[in-house]
Amino acid sequence: MGSAAFIPVNEPLLDGNEKKYLNECIDTGWISSEGPFISKFEEQFAARVGRKHAVAVSNGSVALDLAVAALGITSGDEVIMPSFTIISCAAAVVRSGAIPVLVDSDPLTWNMEISQIEKRVTSRTKAIMVVHIYGLPVDMDPLLEIARKHKLKVIEDAAEMHGQTYKGEPCGSFGDISTFSFYPNKHITTGEGGMVLTNDKAIADHCRSLRNLCFKPEKRFVHDELGFNFRMTNLQAALGLAQLERLDVFIARKREMGRFYSERLASLRGIQLPVLKTVYADNIFWVYPIVLMDEIPFDAEQAMKSLASLSIGSRPFFYPMHLQPVFTGKGWYKNESYPVAEKIANRGFYIPSGLALTSDQMSRVVEGLKKVLN
Ligand SMILES: *Cc1c(COP(=O)(O)O)cnc(C)c1O
Repeated sequence: MGSAAFIPVNEPLLDGNEKKYLNECIDTGWISSEGPFISKFEEQFAARVGRKHAVAVSNGSVALDLAVAALGITSGDEVIMPSFTIISCAAAVVRSGAIPVLVDSDPLTWNMEISQIEKRVTSRTKAIMVVHIYGLPVDMDPLLEIARKHKLKVIEDAAEMHGQTYKGEPCGSFGDISTFSFYPNKHITTGEGGMVLTNDKAIADHCRSLRNLCFKPEKRFVHDELGFNFRMTNLQAALGLAQLERLDVFIARKREMGRFYSERLASLRGIQLPVLKTVYADNIFWVYPIVLMDEIPFDAEQAMKSLASLSIGSRPFFYPMHLQPVFTGKGWYKNESYPVAEKIANRGFYIPSGLALTSDQMSRVVEGLKKVLN
């Protein structure tokens, strides 16, 4: 193996029953969204997250669209969310006609700053969209208390939290409605895929209907409401079921990788490493994030270029919602600033941590980082 072989930022591990279950789909001809793996995957995923109902969908972004639609969020409403997140969160809210109202991030965990939420509540606020970032959950107890006090719904985006817990309870079990993604860089993957979970049967039924164009059971091509085609295929669910069987192994491996990097990078000056644990959770390292401190004379973009020249893949942090051209172009967020989100967006990036990564590759990443930072 040449030392110049490129190390991708993520490569999934598909070494369980994936092939066997996919072959079953092909052998039986069940390849569309009809087929036995869908309900099996939904039931087993719901059990794992401790929820009564799960609705499998085509990706984690549309899972958020369904969540927003199923809660009846609409024009004139406001939804409080972190500025530091993926566009999918804000896009779902904006498409519903509602407005994303933002808060900054905690400088250590990079999760939404709970202390800023209550100040942003108005008579139009309908919900808080919680997004657990990079491997550590948001501190849910105080957030749920604010939601209860102001009668707000909670949408929990747990796309980066498969198998993670908050005070021993599964992430994804806290929202009125919660969502996951199964993109290949998540802890378990279906290629593309997502899930919506809830304990409320009416919300789950509404999600099932919205997922499938709101066909009426009693009169198929007559519609009382506009839905979507957000269906997951049996092929995706087959992959998902095989991956779910391996979730505990995957989380153990991700934690091991996180510890490996943290130990070997601890002596490097000028970088902020991820928090290993808080009082309510141990990091599951969805990714291994690094933030360059002020004493480093270049930003994340430069660091990523230098890593790429050493054949090491990396990705930038999220770009804050209040700086997105698609929103500032509408005149939104003009006099608002979220300094932590801005800083980590400029100075944060993550290094290879896919499940297929080998220890040799990780050592090369560490050596590469040392070169780049010295
Ligand atoms: C990955 C991710 C999504 C989007 O999921 P897709 O399946 O890629 O559409 C949404 N929210 C968060 C926090 C994510 O990390």
